[in-house]
Amino acid sequence: MLPHLKDRPIALVRAPDGIDGQLFFQKHAERTAMPGLTAHERDLWPGHPPLLTVDTLDALLSAAQMNTIEFHTWNSLVPVVSKPDRVIFDLDPGDGVKWSHVQEAALLVRTLLAELKLEAWLKTSGGKGLHVVVPLATRLEYATVKSFSQAFVRHLARTIPERFSAVSGPANRLGKVYVDYLRNGKGQTTAAAFSARARPGMGVSMPIAWEQVTEIKSGAQWTVQTAREYLSFQTQDPWAAYWTTKQTVAAAIKRLA
Ligand code: ATP
Ligand code: MN
Repeated sequence: MLPHLKDRPIALVRAPDGIDGQLFFQKHAERTAMPGLTAHERDLWPGHPPLLTVDTLDALLSAAQMNTIEFHTWNSLVPVVSKPDRVIFDLDPGDGVKWSHVQEAALLVRTLLAELKLEAWLKTSGGKGLHVVVPLATRLEYATVKSFSQAFVRHLARTIPERFSAVSGPANRLGKVYVDYLRNGKGQTTAAAFSARARPGMGVSMPIAWEQVTEIKSGAQWTVQTAREYLSFQTQDPWAAYWTTKQTVAAAIKRLA
């Protein structure tokens, strides 16, 4: 989990009274100081309280000790916080969507990205859906990357309207997979790979290979009860090449326009 957290501003979901009790979404250091976490200077994000990062095993343990269940991260790293090094497409099944349509949606997103010469990796959300992650070179500003992701999702919804919605809200999503591009703005976060979820059953966000998408049965295929054993049998990291893949959306923006 640490490579997915290091240097990335975070938001934590803390559950001091268990996941059935009140949950706290914490983005800043102001409330409780957690020993080991790094609190960054205010000018990293002007107008906001200090951002937090979990950079070490001690910090991770400290957050766990402070009843953190979920770790959500920004799309950029502290050294170049204004430029994302990834774009995320969050696939959310609306009410009444068959799981097979979610699987198919993920493969369609992958195909369209491949058309745009962009390689993507997949993880379960640990909740209802899937997250498609596209690693980028830290070159473009948030606004540019976000507008790419918006254009991408609109194109998807226009091309395959029976399956995709680019508009949030339950009515628009009915029977469709909503692809949330708003995660790609500055200050927005997504549950990190290997994070548990503070929901019944406690799903885990699991990085998987594309070939596995047809085998899994939900976004919470793995939970805190099964994730560790599953991982202990894995001999290959499906995301191994993710870390060395640096892409740019510049050409894709032109093609989508
Ligand atoms: P699912 O697959 O079930 O959709 P998810 O991880 O994709 O799971 P959510 O957990 O519903 O989606 O999170 C939606 C967005 O809101 C994420 O960007 C997340 O970082 C953010 N978020 C989650 N909990 C809170 C909260 N309590 N307050 C503010 N933002 C939150
Ligand atoms: Mn989602």
